[in-house]
Amino acid sequence: MEPRERIEELRQAIRQHDYRYYVLAEPTVSDEEYDMLVKGLEALEKAYPNLKTSDSPSARVGSDLTKEFPARLHATPMLSISNTYNEEEVIDFDRRVRSLLPGENIAYTCELKIDGVALSLLYEEGILQAGITRGDGTSGEVITPNVRTIRTIPLKLLGFDGTCEVRGEVFLERHAFDNMNKNREAAGEKLFANPRNATAGSLKLQDPRIVAERPLRFFAYWFGIAGRDIDSQWDRLEQLSSLGFSVNPNRRKCRTIGEIMAFAGDMDHKRDSLPYDIDGIVVKIDSHDQFSRLGTTAKSPRGVVAYKFRARQAETLLEDIITQVGRTGTITPVAVLRPVLLAGSTISRATLHNEQEIARKDIRAGDTVIIEKGGDVIPKVVSVVLDKRPPDSHPYHIPDICPECSSPIVRDEKEVAVRCVNASCPAMVEGRILHFASRDALDIEGLGPSSVSLLVQSGLIANYADLYDLTGKRDQLAALERMGEKSAENLISALEASKKKELWNLIFGLGIRHVGAGSARTLANTFNSLDALMNADAESLEAIGDIGPVVAESIMDFFGNETNRGILARLKEYGLPFKSEKHEITANEFFAGKTFVLTGALDSMTRTEAGDIIRSLGGNVTSSVSKKTDYVVYGADAGSKLTKAQELGVETLDEEQFLEHANMK
Ligand code: NAD
Repeated sequence: MEPRERIEELRQAIRQHDYRYYVLAEPTVSDEEYDMLVKGLEALEKAYPNLKTSDSPSARVGSDLTKEFPARLHATPMLSISNTYNEEEVIDFDRRVRSLLPGENIAYTCELKIDGVALSLLYEEGILQAGITRGDGTSGEVITPNVRTIRTIPLKLLGFDGTCEVRGEVFLERHAFDNMNKNREAAGEKLFANPRNATAGSLKLQDPRIVAERPLRFFAYWFGIAGRDIDSQWDRLEQLSSLGFSVNPNRRKCRTIGEIMAFAGDMDHKRDSLPYDIDGIVVKIDSHDQFSRLGTTAKSPRGVVAYKFRARQAETLLEDIITQVGRTGTITPVAVLRPVLLAGSTISRATLHNEQEIARKDIRAGDTVIIEKGGDVIPKVVSVVLDKRPPDSHPYHIPDICPECSSPIVRDEKEVAVRCVNASCPAMVEGRILHFASRDALDIEGLGPSSVSLLVQSGLIANYADLYDLTGKRDQLAALERMGEKSAENLISALEASKKKELWNLIFGLGIRHVGAGSARTLANTFNSLDALMNADAESLEAIGDIGPVVAESIMDFFGNETNRGILARLKEYGLPFKSEKHEITANEFFAGKTFVLTGALDSMTRTEAGDIIRSLGGNVTSSVSKKTDYVVYGADAGSKLTKAQELGVETLDEEQFLEHANMK
């Protein structure tokens, strides 16, 4: 391959990984694999300097900007840190530093590299004014309402009432992360891959009340006061402590490579016993003056380096490859391993992601494999020890039927995923019923994770249509442990009440992949009846503004499944809302045909909910303000979008005015 093509290929791959890691918080490769791609790109760009461009990901800090929050410039850029994975690279770093500062005394402050998310805090008169993400390094997103919920961040500094900026890392302890994932699993929600991704996802939530439920924590590692230099990083950490911040106690002042490596070794040993994840140590020039004189490259300061720990690896036998069905129907191949001890726990399973991944690594049952526990909590198979492959092994293919219910599986052309779309597949039953009962769906009060589990385990229900049979099984219901007369009675009334919901609630509640509350409203408003939607072809679905080919295909797959059709026939018989009652009156003159932009944090709902309301009333929602925008609806901490609206003379509505027009006041 030509260097130009290889460079472009690497840049594209890195941009994709950056987006998945920083914006979606769903990385698909380990940090080490990612760092190797970046190093490969840097080496090629060094060898072919004429091919280097300023927009190359090697020259920029990965960006977490989403347009969901107002943006704000950082007073000094929040840069990345250059990474090393071995002692030689740390030696090179030290050599470079010494050659740039000839004859000077050099000391380093070594700290833990907390595996979380960087945050900048602005204090004025000692009071917290703003919390800003790193963004693209130059400007970040203002997430102050979310930051205020973090209890280890002082809202008022101790003994200092001036202006300053504090930087540090937000993170989740592992046990808190495990609890969060357990709750998400019970609610049928998607699990976070690791504490870092859960932290990144939490900080970008629209509703600070939900953020407050997540026990996010913060370690401070830097602060600056305009016009005053703090001469040493070591002292800075001590001062942060006295200002009321939590500062990580594991730190050491080092003067030689030997001392740095000893600290790294000690911390690598300690790693599994710490309650939070670290991915290495950070080695910083202690003197602020030397640090400033060394300056920065486009991406990172020259006076700092991260020495990253390698992911833990072990060798073992892959005894078999089985498939598992997740709560959303995704079928994942899983490696059954001969149990092996890795990073303090016994590993007997590892995810294999998908068929393509297995083919790429040529993983077969009977192989001896190297497994790794890296950034992801779930261990994975890194490679095969080909020398140990038995002669009779053969390549793996995912079976064509669901391992749980034997329904034919559906393969998406574009997504690599393979899934079961049978709504009564036992693997998905509890998650689907919970979704059916959720607030935006049929809103069945009292049907939470534990009661759904109880009903499914006792054999009373196996899909959401079975719920409506419960009306005739009052005694059986009341006899269930933890249920009783009163709860049985309440559940039956809640089921009756759910029949009065609207068509869009039912469409949303069916749990069709990619059909969220917004698309469910659009579908209900377009087709007016579930029967019409069931018989719609791809062309008529795709003719609707909000529905693309992927969603259309998913809708067709769902209604094409025999079992699902049987369930729908029953729901119709029970009297669920198969027709849209309110169609004619839903469009509201004020909203119909107008284009809205939402910005800032609303008090009474999230922006997604407000968008759904606007659409259901006949309006459109777009993400950026232009002359074509009719109204900008703004909440607290609204930023550039509101300013732009004012510049362009676009009319603005505060939350109160918006609710009034929507007849919700
Ligand atoms: P980084 O993680 O290499 O280092 C900089 C960050 O370290 C800072 O922003 C700060 O958040 C953090 N940090 C933690 N403790 C610190 C301390 N004591 N002092 C100073 N900083 C501390 O840089 P980055 O730019 O945030 O991320 C780049 C890295 O992220 C890559 O090298 C890669 O490992 C990973 N990444 C992975 C993927 C993927 O798909 N797996 C994609 C993009 C990036």
